[in-house]
Amino acid sequence: MTSPEVSPPHAEPPGALFGRLISTPEGLSDREAKERLRRVGPNRLDPARPVSAWKILADQLRSVVVVLLVAAAAIALLLREPIEAAAIAAVLVINTVVGFVTEWRARRAMAALIHLDVPRAFAIRGGQLRGIDAETLVPGDVIEIEAGQQVPADGRIVTETDLRTSEAALTGESLPVSKAADAVPLDTPLAERTSMAYKGTTVAAGTARVLVTGTGAATEVGRIGVLVRDVQDEPAPLERRLDELGHRLVWLALAVAALVSALGALQGAAFALVVETGIALAVAAVPEALPAVATIALAVGMRRMARRRALVRRLPAVEALGSTTVICTDKTRTLTSGDMTVVRLWTAGQDIDLSRADTAPPEARRALDVAALASREQIVQPGSASEGDPVDVAMLRAAARAGIDRRALVARTPARGLVPFSSDRKFMATFHAGPEGLMAHMKGAPGRVLGFCTRDGRGQALDAAGRQAVVAANDAFAAAGLRVLGLATGRVAEPAETSLRDLTFIGLVGLMDPPAPGVRDTIAQLRTAGLRTVMLTGDQRLTALAVGREIGVVAADGEVVDGRELDAMSPESFATRVGRIAAFSRITPEHKLRIVTALQASGEIVAMLGDGVNDAPALKKADVGVAMGRRGTDVAKQAAAIVLQDDRFETIAAAVEEGRVIFDNIRKFVFYLFSCNVAEVLVLLVAGVLGWPMPLLPLQLLWLNMVTDTFPALALAMEPGDADVMRRPPRDPQAAILSRPFLASIMFYGALITASSLAAYGWALWARPGDAKTVAFMTLAFAQTFHLGNARSTEAVLKPARVVANRYALGAVVLSMGLQLVAMYVEPLARILHVTVLDAGAWGVVLALAVIPAVVGQALKLSGVRR
Ligand code: ADP
Ligand code: MG
Repeated sequence: MTSPEVSPPHAEPPGALFGRLISTPEGLSDREAKERLRRVGPNRLDPARPVSAWKILADQLRSVVVVLLVAAAAIALLLREPIEAAAIAAVLVINTVVGFVTEWRARRAMAALIHLDVPRAFAIRGGQLRGIDAETLVPGDVIEIEAGQQVPADGRIVTETDLRTSEAALTGESLPVSKAADAVPLDTPLAERTSMAYKGTTVAAGTARVLVTGTGAATEVGRIGVLVRDVQDEPAPLERRLDELGHRLVWLALAVAALVSALGALQGAAFALVVETGIALAVAAVPEALPAVATIALAVGMRRMARRRALVRRLPAVEALGSTTVICTDKTRTLTSGDMTVVRLWTAGQDIDLSRADTAPPEARRALDVAALASREQIVQPGSASEGDPVDVAMLRAAARAGIDRRALVARTPARGLVPFSSDRKFMATFHAGPEGLMAHMKGAPGRVLGFCTRDGRGQALDAAGRQAVVAANDAFAAAGLRVLGLATGRVAEPAETSLRDLTFIGLVGLMDPPAPGVRDTIAQLRTAGLRTVMLTGDQRLTALAVGREIGVVAADGEVVDGRELDAMSPESFATRVGRIAAFSRITPEHKLRIVTALQASGEIVAMLGDGVNDAPALKKADVGVAMGRRGTDVAKQAAAIVLQDDRFETIAAAVEEGRVIFDNIRKFVFYLFSCNVAEVLVLLVAGVLGWPMPLLPLQLLWLNMVTDTFPALALAMEPGDADVMRRPPRDPQAAILSRPFLASIMFYGALITASSLAAYGWALWARPGDAKTVAFMTLAFAQTFHLGNARSTEAVLKPARVVANRYALGAVVLSMGLQLVAMYVEPLARILHVTVLDAGAWGVVLALAVIPAVVGQALKLSGVRR
């Protein structure tokens, strides 16, 4: 469509471009758009590439374990034991394949879950402005862009109001650039082409109509090949810590292996056996599955969060969720329903109840006229209150109930301009040409509106007493928990913000915005879990206080601090008070960053909910930035780590819960793997010290470690949460994974399993000397398998519902036991592993001793002793 010979779009007037792109200001027809899409292809850049399979494979092979196994195989070959060498090689291959497949699948699952929006665009198609999938845009489309959106394609600006875009992603320019419809010279560099809006940049302010000139790879970002990658590939700190832990364990393992080998050598064992045992032991002591299982646990957790409608964009947030102590949240539409109704009106000194009446008294009409005119026309779909600005929707509905139709008013007094609402401005105004000249109609925060007024509704000068009356009426409304807006009107010289002065104060409206269903309970639930909810609102203090009390955010001694007080506070005094502040009123988005920073400085881990353009800095600064999926702006979503698909406050509690479960499960399999490894090492070490023959062969150790243990450990990544996950305080982010009591319990169970296995071995040395190694091998294997029950929960898992809550755990137990039987009864495996067939008596001893660690563990848990 765009060929290089014709001049680039930035130098042409929009009119000529419409001709060239065979389009009109009314956009394309649906058919034409479809036809063009077929020809030019979707408006999409190549997505960032996922981690390559090669890299994952290389990671598997780089581990020390592999080096050890290769060494063991080589030694076996040197000692002319080809079967042994082949077996070790087989273990190596199986282990690498299993590790590779699980890791690869987990990563792919995670990549699919990392939430990347399919952005929406607003295009005029078939003469109507409609929300469409941005990937279906084609050259010639006419689109509308507004603050907070990501520009979906390259385009020529046709009309605009105050349009500014942030182009850092494209040009590196950090300040927003003002845009205009005027053509710029042909040789203007990209960064200065103010007549264009470019894909991948974001709209910082204003709105515009844009004629799409390039899509997909034919955009500037597409051409430069800049990856508009909005999710960094940060390694989760947790995975990194586990990795480090693994590295340290390798050295520990080597030391232990050297010690055991020395013991063996002292006893006069064959050199080959000593070396091989040493190597096998080193392999046994290293929990090689750790990082992979951590990845899997994260992937599983992400999937669970997604099912509960919380989508993860940045992995480290998952871990931070488990330690979050404070949740900062908007009030309006997050804690409240956002389905607002005008219930009271104060005008000309009268307090009018509008909650029941279907028609308004005549005195109310003038105020409702102003309220309707000072709003924007909304697409009010019956039944769905979430579309559009809820304040404006409420105004238009109240007016409609009194028989006032905004469109009829506008027909009589045509629109001449608009000062849009923003949370910074806290008011909006519209301009209309009427019989008396150019009029402004304004509504907004009462204090702000009053500031523009010099006359009262009766045309008299607004004196101190008059202002006092407004304040008293406002306070009465606010104390009832109503959101209060002031109304004003007056003649102005020009349709511009700067000419707003000397207006007439018409009155106050009180809007009821009931708490969102379930919010009270969620806040209470979060409190039980040790999380404080802090409410942030642009509403005034009294409203914040009333609403905060109702939903349980503000307790009897909770403070509410006004944005203005905050401005006056020094960072030091703010830092000392911030822990007691339950709500902030009259704040602007800029305050949010300050609040997050102060909370973090006082040691809190902060989750911050937001949706506006200006929320991005606070969302990024927070430990967990959370954006609303439906009404959030693109900018907010990109800055966030988590996106709540359903915009519900409850969902954040679900995310916290799942975040905690993930961390718990990682701890669970660390516990499981470590206690098994400790047992394997201790069995050899203690037997050596006692002067007994080696109870396990190197290949048996490999088998235990890489086959029998693997499935139970993987199953632990799937554990449901413990009953108390949301009843205990957040995890201290500073606390090590391997705390002292945790290590102690690992050692305790490791010792218990060792005792059982050696008891069986000792018995067999005396009663079944030919089967002694097999007895030790089987007891150790079964004890480890049954030990899974101890790792699964901090509580006993004996209750039937709890036993079956994780079918993977049951499957893993069955599978591990089955594999042990295969090792005994199936040739040539049995021969390679030197496993003999046990008689019933020996089996009895094996099983009786193997259940001991599990029985002791469950008994301890039942009697209230936590591990
Ligand atoms: P919140 O964060 O609680 O939603 P906002 O920043 O949106 O607060 O609003 C702050 C104040 O601005 C409100 O208390 C109200 O007085 C005023 N306001 C809100 N929405 C509108 C609107 N659409 N038009 C005019 N004024 C508004
Ligand atoms: Mg708002």
